[in-house]
Order: sequence, then structure tokens, then C-alpha cells
Amino acid sequence: MEKEAKINIAIDGYSSCGKSTVAKLLAKDLAYSYVDTGAMYRAVTLYLLERGLIKDGKLSPRLVADSLDNIRITFKFNEKTKSSDTYLNEENVEDKIRSPEISSMVSGVSSIKEVRHKLIALQKEIGKDKGVVMDGRDIGTAVLPHAELKLFLTSDTDIRTQRRYDELIDKGYKTSLKEVRENLISRDYQDTTRKENPLVKAADAIEIDNSEITLEELLMNIKQKVNELKLA
Ligand code: C5P
Repeated sequence: MEKEAKINIAIDGYSSCGKSTVAKLLAKDLAYSYVDTGAMYRAVTLYLLERGLIKDGKLSPRLVADSLDNIRITFKFNEKTKSSDTYLNEENVEDKIRSPEISSMVSGVSSIKEVRHKLIALQKEIGKDKGVVMDGRDIGTAVLPHAELKLFLTSDTDIRTQRRYDELIDKGYKTSLKEVRENLISRDYQDTTRKENPLVKAADAIEIDNSEITLEELLMNIKQKVNELKLA
């Protein structure tokens, strides 16, 4: 029997729209790889913070560019959690990269041209054999412009804020709804207005508002689109 051809699925959207939650489930369902590109930008940010290359919230794009050769980012499947963990130079940094401190600096780091060039090259390489569900901000436009299915998720800002706040509290971080909301708005602004690969809906992406639907409904909706593509 002929093996079913694999496709690539690009999921873009604003911060905390539920992209990674649905992307992980979808990948599991299709037996595809899930790639969290935001984790890569977060890992670079962690490296810079730990080396003192971000001081008082400021960074030098030149020093950042000079450090990139020392940064190796990989993913390894975690049997316990049944999902991939992010590794920075062989250290598991999956928890560290989710901190509010990283969230507050990551959009500054991701706007640096050299950072984007390095990570986009890596992401393109991962996607070249297909069978990948990748989420981020520029997947449908820059990383996988030929992805067979492109989705652009949106969600109400209050709902996104509550979702991210609950996640952080669950992980033991001290924060407030106000702080989380301000971070989301600030990241959306930086991500949509930067020069290099800004967050924008690809012309051929399907927009889905995730505010009022359940995760199950969202997943069903996407799986239906995948099936339609396979039948076409
Ligand atoms: O998805 P997540 O919220 O973890 O992404 C963190 C940050 O990484 C985003 O706010 C954005 O600045 C950056 N990012 C990006 N391009 C991507 C994925 C994430 O610029 N493809």
C-alpha cells in the first residue's frame, strides 16, 4: 500500500492564542513532529540573560550577533510529559524559558536580524522532510511559505491574558493579570511592527478566532481541514 504523503502545517498568531496547545495535540494525532519556534527565541534570550548580555533590559544587537555561534538549540522527547523539551547547549531549559523575565525580553531579542536568520534556517531544515506542525509568528510567511495548511489564530485579549496568567500561576510564578496583559500587548506590538519577518497573516492562511470555542472544537475544525486536503 502506498504510504500517505505527509504535509506541513504552519500555525501563526498573537501571543497566548492557544497555538501551542492545539499544535501539540494535532501533531500527536497525526503522528507528526511538533516544533515550538517560540521556545527557540526564548532559549536564545535565556542564554543572553545568563551571560549578562542583557543588562537592565538593554541589549546590544552586535554583541548578540557575536554570541550566536555559541548557542545550540535542540529538542528531545520527554517520555514523562509525552512532549518535546527544549535544550540549550545540552541543558534542559524547558521550565526556565517560560518565566515572565524571559517573556519580557524575548521580543527585543527576536527582532534582531541575525537571531532570526539563524533560527529560521534551523526551522526550515526541520521542516524540509514534511510531517511537521510548527507554531510561531512567521511560519506561514517566512519559515514554511509552501506549507500545505496555514492557520492564523486570534483570540480576545482578556481571554489570552487569563490563559497565560493561569499557566504562570500553575507553574508557581508570582504575577498579576495587569502584568500579564501588559506583556502580551507589548509583545504583540513589537512582533507586528518589527522590520524582520513581522507577525502578519499569510495571504493564504485560514484565520480562526479561538475566543469562544473549546480546544476540542478547534482541534476538530483543524483536523477536518487536514482531511479535506488529503482528499483533494
Ligand atoms: O510563542 P511564544 O510566545 O513562546 O514566543 C515568544 C516570542 O518569540 C514571541 O513573542 C516573538 O517575539 C518570538 N517569536 C518570533 N517568531 C516565531 C516565534 C516566536 O519572533 N516564529
